[in-house]
Amino acid sequence: MDKPDHKSSDDKQAALFRAFADNFRWEDVSLLAYKEEGSAPFKSITRQVLFKDDALRCELRYFEVAPGGYSTLERHEHTHGVMILRGSADVLVGDEVRTVKTHDLVRIPAMTWHQFRTKGDEPMGFLCMVNVERDKPQLPRDEDLNAMKANPAIAGFLKS
Ligand code: MN
Repeated sequence: MDKPDHKSSDDKQAALFRAFADNFRWEDVSLLAYKEEGSAPFKSITRQVLFKDDALRCELRYFEVAPGGYSTLERHEHTHGVMILRGSADVLVGDEVRTVKTHDLVRIPAMTWHQFRTKGDEPMGFLCMVNVERDKPQLPRDEDLNAMKANPAIAGFLKS
């Protein structure tokens, strides 16, 4: 007799072990859209939620950006802790633009403009730790963009 499948996605989140599969997928972890299409500008990103634990009050997600892709330029009150897992990217955090590669760490403080843009022909993947409860990201207004572009490094980054 078949075993009834009562597994909800929450049960799957509670699995003690989940194997890493080929091509940066994990066992029983769904491949999701980065965000709702049309909700904000972004290009060629997928999302996997690796851990979501109410007791920890945080989530660990894996995002992957295809070559030529980028995350949304945004800011919000919640913070991010990021580790690059594959590939390379140019990253804007506040008034700094840096090139990052596998295993580099990026801290994104509250209300700080940030964006990831891939570099090279390889996909760029990163782990991102975030609070379970979080505010909605803000997108830059024209005046915010103009202020950012006053910094030549950021102007170059935004044009790339
Ligand atoms: Mn963000």
